[in-house]
This record gives sequence, structure tokens and C-alpha cells, in this order.
Amino acid sequence: MTIRTRFAPSPTGYLHVGGARTALFSWLYARKHGGTFVLRIEDTDLERSTAESVNAILEGMTWLGLEYDEGPFYQTHRFDRYKALIQQLVDEGKAYHCYCSKEELDDMREAQMALKENPRYDGRCRHRAEPREGVSPVVRFRNPDEGAVVIDDQVKGQIVVRNAELDDLIIARSDGSPTYNFTVVVDDLDMRITHVMRGDDHVNNTPRQINILKALGAELPKYGHVPMILGADGARLSKRHGAVSVMQYRDDGFLPEAVLNYLVRLGWSHGDQEIFSIDEMIEYFDVGDINHSASTFNPDKLLWLNHHYLMHGDPVHVAHHLRWHLGRIGIDPTEGPDPVEVVKAQRERNKTLVEMAEASAFFYRDVHQYDEKAAKKHLTPEAVDGLSMLRDTLGALRPWVRESIHDLIAATAEALEVKMGGIAQPLRVAVSGTSVSPPIDLTLEILGQEKTLARIDQALNWIGKKT
Ligand code: GLU
Repeated sequence: MTIRTRFAPSPTGYLHVGGARTALFSWLYARKHGGTFVLRIEDTDLERSTAESVNAILEGMTWLGLEYDEGPFYQTHRFDRYKALIQQLVDEGKAYHCYCSKEELDDMREAQMALKENPRYDGRCRHRAEPREGVSPVVRFRNPDEGAVVIDDQVKGQIVVRNAELDDLIIARSDGSPTYNFTVVVDDLDMRITHVMRGDDHVNNTPRQINILKALGAELPKYGHVPMILGADGARLSKRHGAVSVMQYRDDGFLPEAVLNYLVRLGWSHGDQEIFSIDEMIEYFDVGDINHSASTFNPDKLLWLNHHYLMHGDPVHVAHHLRWHLGRIGIDPTEGPDPVEVVKAQRERNKTLVEMAEASAFFYRDVHQYDEKAAKKHLTPEAVDGLSMLRDTLGALRPWVRESIHDLIAATAEALEVKMGGIAQPLRVAVSGTSVSPPIDLTLEILGQEKTLARIDQALNWIGKKT
């Protein structure tokens, strides 16, 4: 049997963390078993579905690298198929037209509530022989009366629902359009899905979907309902807990592999391992190891993982992402050092690419303003001798390499009988505008000789004007 999994988002917003996690689980399961991962866009809610949302979902999946093997399939392109199967069920007596008016259904509900029964459709149109004039009927699935639906959920274990608790679900509205549970069933059947992994907010739909699948003569997929994600306060994760859109994490300076690693551990574990490469995720992932209870979103852990991947990732790869972030703050990365060198120099002290881009801006654009505190402390008349001497010696230095720069700064400090910091800090503020940067020799090497000298001149000038 070839494993076939799917991700079936409704395009009514962005790709959120919860959706991305179910997509990841389904993708991993398919990859692990050499199977097929299908993307299906559940866009039958015409009022809430938008093309922008479809694109936002595609963008999120592409950024994460969750590539689908088939699709995207759009439910709105499949209405003829749904209609044909609805007709088939009617013809076989497994579904029927229901002419009940809204008033009739309301009365039914009230009567049931008065008897303290659960409101449910009582099936009165099952035997209605004649159409009602002027009424366009809905179509209801004739749910079995006897027995029970048994779901061997791969996450939650066995779930048993008695058929007596289920009523006859509407599968086509009076305008003929199919309803949500029906389209899901037909698609899972036609797309030969073997494993359905989805949020446990769908668990109540599953017995109904199983009954319809059986009526269509389908083999049942295996189901795994993944518990939801909570914010730190125990409430279901939502916008008020901060970013929930996957693309927001890109904008906030996270690497996709950090987000994937975070998501895979959110509700799944493999011993006490925290860091997983994609290959390891694929190797170790198993639906049976998904937690049974809800997981809590922890932004600090995501930050920790991001720092890990900045530190240990291939700098060439990280630099691809840094370039984009530099561009976002208006920097042209070709107007300065190779971002790969910048990544190597900066990654210890930055937890996000946004921080890294901001802290690296001085490599690419002129220092127009000094950090006020740093300038007050370090760009003083006392710094002038050191800076002037450095200006001369650095100006004559060939080749411009870190070791020689270091020796030269040390020699200057010695000549002036000050500590290394006494000379390095003014220099740092002069070239970077702030008192924080990578080691000063490395900073200068990356910045280059010409820019270094120009910035020392600029700082000397600035001090001169101040005094
Ligand atoms: N379209 C549903 C949703 O976005 C998912 C349905 C399913 O996975 O069966 O919640």
C-alpha cells in the first residue's frame, strides 16, 4: 500500500501555526514511507475563501519547504463530481430529499428540548413520498440507525460513537451545492487518502464522514486527530498571543528550519531530543508518538532554536535569508561586504535575522548618527590622539587582514599607554555608530580599509565640532 496523506486547509486567512503543524505531520508521514503528500484547498465556503488566502497558504508552505506531490486541488473545481455522487446516493436510497421548512425544524427542536432530548433531525422525510410544491429540497444522508462507529484513532486511541447519536446530515443544500463534510469525504475517497491527520476540532465530524464513506463503498483511511495548541495562559492559541501566522515568523527573523523544528516538537517527541534536522524528523516521526494532550506554545524556545540554527547552520544558507532581511530595511547587500562573512561575524550575538540585519546595517550604509550614549562616552577629546594615530597606521596597513589589524591596534594602545579597550571602543563607535559590534579587528576587516578610514575621519571631525 502506498501511503497517501493530505493537508486540506480552508483558505480563509493565512497559514497559521496549527495548520502548519498538521501539514508538517502529514508531510513527514508521507516522506517517511515514500508516500504521496496531497494539497487540497477546501474553498467551498465562497464567502470566506479568497485567492489571497490560497496564496498565503502556498507561500507559507513553500517557505517552510513542505512541498506537495499532488495538487493543489480546489474543491470548487469538483462540484460536478460531488453532485454525481449525491445523485448516486439518492438513487441507491442512501440519501433522500428533505422538504422540511425552517419552522418545522424549529418546532422539532423545541419539542425535543422540552423533553430534555438532544436536538436532532428525526428523519421524518425519509419516508415522504411526494415532493412539496414550490420547495427546493435539501439532500440528507440516511445515517444507519443501529450499531456504532468505531474509530481507531492513531493519536487518541479508540473512539466509539453510537449511530443513535447521529442524525441525517444535510449533504446538499437546497441550491444543490454540497456541504463541507460531504466534499471532504468524496475528496479523501477520490484522492485515495490512506491517513488523515487533522486538528481534533474535527473529531466530531469523523463518525459522520465514516458512515458516508461506507455508503460510497470506500475503504476507510486511518485517522489521527492532533490536539490543539494553547498559548501560555492556557487558552487556545490566537492572535492575542502574538504571531500565529507562519509568514510573520519569517518577517520576525526566524529561519524556516527553526520553525519546522519548533513545530515538530510541539506535540510530538522522540526521547528527549530537541534538535532535529529534516532527515531526522523524517526518520523518527511516528503518528503514535504524537502527544495525547494539548501543547503550549513557547516563544522563548522558538527563539532558542532559531539562535541554534543561526549559529550552526551553513553561513551560505543563512546569508540567503539575511540578504532578504537587509533588503527589507532598505539595504542593498551588494554595497558592502559579502553577507556570508557578516553572518559568520554576527551570529553569536543575534537571535533573529531582524536583529542581525539591524546590527549589520553599518557595514552597508554610512553612519549618519552616533548612538547618543556611546558617543558621549567614547567620542571625546581624549579619544582624538588614539583615533588620529590609528588613522595613520591603519592607512598604511597592507594587507588588510584581521591579524595585522589586531596587532596594530594593540601596538597603538601600547604606544599611548592605554588599555586596548580605551582605544578599541572609540574606534568601534566611529565605524559602527554604536558600542556593540563583532570583535573590532574582525569588524574592520569586513568593513574594509577605505570605509574604515573615512569613518575615523568623520568621527574626528565630529569630535572637533563638538569641542
Ligand atoms: N478544511 C479543514 C480546516 O481547514 C480541514 C479538514 C480536514 O482536514 O479534514 O480546518
